[in-house]
Amino acid sequence: MRRGLSLRLGTLPSMFAPRRIQHCRVCGTATAYRVPADDNRERAVCGACGEIHYENPINVVGTVPVWGDQVLLCRRNIEPRHGMWTLPAGFLELGETVSAGALRETEEEAGAHVQLQELFTVLDVVRAGQLHLFWRARMLDTHLAPGPETIEARLFREDEVPWEQIAFRTVRQTLEHFFADRRAGRFELHTGQIG
Ligand SMILES: [Zn+2]
Repeated sequence: MRRGLSLRLGTLPSMFAPRRIQHCRVCGTATAYRVPADDNRERAVCGACGEIHYENPINVVGTVPVWGDQVLLCRRNIEPRHGMWTLPAGFLELGETVSAGALRETEEEAGAHVQLQELFTVLDVVRAGQLHLFWRARMLDTHLAPGPETIEARLFREDEVPWEQIAFRTVRQTLEHFFADRRAGRFELHTGQIG
């Protein structure tokens, strides 16, 4: 299942723009942002039933699928950044582990058969309220069957990567780490913050 467009990857503006809850999820009454008792930050509080709506960062999970000296990228068939290239990634769903989510997104977006390897990047995107996690993944074959969110999926050697058409900064940074580590002959976990 997909979230609505308003929460798609990268749709939030680059300046700090928290998600806003306009109406109570319990009774539908308009909410107001205020600091509840015994709390230290503003929450959307229902004026009718008193429900407090807590909002936390969203997890985005994906992979760096590798076949020989090539990596798999997907060209986006959805907004934002329609037509630009990305690693297969998407929102973690309730009821699944982060690694299962990364595997699912890889299958949904590229139809690729991969075996997950180590967790590779953990990137905070604080201003968008997101945490992005990418795993290295070994492709088991080169059969690809892109889903509806992908125009095409294809393998790129490092010198073929369309760096000017990479959709998201976390994807660009993950790819940069990947090629740098491969040149160094050693892969390690990278953590960092975007924006
Ligand atoms: Zn309410």
